This record gives sequence, C-alpha cells and structure tokens, in this order.
Amino acid sequence: MNVATSAESRAPGGVHEPHEGALFVEGVSVSFDGFKALNDLTLYVDHGELRCLIGPNGAGKTTLMDVITGKTRPDEGQVFFGDRIDLLHLTEAQIAEVGIGRKFQKPTVFERLSVRDNLTLALKQDRRVWAMLRARLSGAERDRMDEAAAQIGLLDALERPAGELSHGQKQWLEIGMLLLQEPRLMLIDEPVAGMTRGEIERTAQLLQDLAGERSVVVVEHDMEFVRSIARRVTVLHQGHVLAEGSMAQVQADPRVIEVYLGE
Ligand code: ADP
Ligand code: MG
Repeated sequence: MNVATSAESRAPGGVHEPHEGALFVEGVSVSFDGFKALNDLTLYVDHGELRCLIGPNGAGKTTLMDVITGKTRPDEGQVFFGDRIDLLHLTEAQIAEVGIGRKFQKPTVFERLSVRDNLTLALKQDRRVWAMLRARLSGAERDRMDEAAAQIGLLDALERPAGELSHGQKQWLEIGMLLLQEPRLMLIDEPVAGMTRGEIERTAQLLQDLAGERSVVVVEHDMEFVRSIARRVTVLHQGHVLAEGSMAQVQADPRVIEVYLGE
C-alpha cells in the first residue's frame, strides 16, 4: 500500500498538503480477553489543534493514548502521525522520538531536585543524571529552559525544590519537562484533577498557549475546564466515538446526555 496516498485520501476535506503533526486513527480495535476496549475507533486531530477527549470511566480514553504511544498494539486499524509515519510499526521509544509526548495523570517530578534541575533533566534526556546536572547548558539551552519556565509560570521558582511546589505547579513543571522534549503532539491525561480553581484557570490558559505550535489532546473529566478550552470535543463511549463537535453541540446531543453528561 502506498502510505502517502492513503494518508492523503484520509485527510479531512481531501487536502493534499502535508499534515505534519496531525494524527490519524482509523478503525482501531483493541481487545482484552475478548472485551473490546476500543471498537472501530476513528479520530483525526489536526496540526495545532487543541482537542478534548471526554467519556465515562472505561470508555477507552487511556487505551487510546496507549495505542498512540505504542504501549498497546491494536488488533485492527491504522494509526498515522502526519502523512507517512505509521505508528504501528514503531516502538514506544521511536514514537517519542518522532515527536509524540505523553503526560500521565500523576505528576512524576523529582521532588528533591530544584525546578531548574528537573527541567535540565528533560532537556538533556540523558540517563547519567548527576554528570548531566553538573554539565553546563549552552546559551541556547538556557534560553529554551527559561522560555519553558516562563510559559509554565515557574520562572521565579527555578531554584526551589520541586517537592515544595503546589500540586498544580508540579503538574505545570511536568508539562514544562514534556515541552522541552519538543513534541509535535502532546497527550495529556487529566491535568486538572486535584487543582484549585485558580490553578485550573491557569492550566486552561497554558494548554491554549501550547496548542497552535503543536497539537494537544487532553483527556479531562472537569466539564467546566473542558468548556473553557474546548474547540472540538470528542466523546468516547464503549471504545467508539459517540459524538464530536463543539462543546455546545456534544452537550446538546441526546446520546451524550444519556451516557455521560446526564449522570
Ligand atoms: P478510560 O480511560 O476511558 O476510563 P480505559 O481505556 O482505561 O478507559 O479502559 C477501557 C476498558 O478497557 C475498561 O473496561 C478497562 O477495564 C479495560 N482495560 C483497560 N486496560 C486493560 C487491560 N490491560 N486488561 C484488561 N482490560 C483492560
Ligand atoms: Mg483513563
């Protein structure tokens, strides 16, 4: 099969320009012991888009992220990143290298290290931690780090131990660490769980800032948050796309009200 041609034919609206950073998930099914966690799931995310993914527990949201990042292999379907990168033929490490970054729900920053050192670790992507922390950053690297720190609102906290940060700030730090790996697609699972209202508002602003230059897919249960950032919302139910559209459209959809918002 000619991959490029097939991706072009898939592109929404039949557009022929390259879709760098766009995500194509088509007809994906995943079974666990005969149970279909994903069932013929099709989803497209444009380059630069901020997409919200909602759905009741067990709808398949995390499994979808596992498929995109190569942690779980589907039984059926196709997953492409851009026009020609077939993610089903790449390892998890290769998928990260082509520019797909994932943030899990729990923050996993190094609590004893300073914010600066946490960001340095992300920047250097090197396992020899201590050698690397002592290594000098280049001017360009320092600039990138300062830019990321400013974006996540932690420029004034660079010397503080990450363990002293609020829960919200730790989440932002982790988003900053992800950012320094320069992903073209960021997958973010439930970023605002446990945050204060003020932190939620700042996170909404941050995610909107991040989209545009890169695609961002956010799984979130907090409907007020989703409403505040959402352009296009995809509702998953039983491993399948139940509805897709603006928040107003999906909220008015009787099927969505029945399975989810009406709960
Ligand atoms: P969500 O993130 O939307 O809450 P998940 O993707 O975590 O949903 O799960 C979808 C369904 O698949 C659930 O019914 C869950 O129990 C099941 N599931 C997920 N991972 C596994 C697994 N490794 N083995 C068996 N069942 C699983
Ligand atoms: Mg989940």
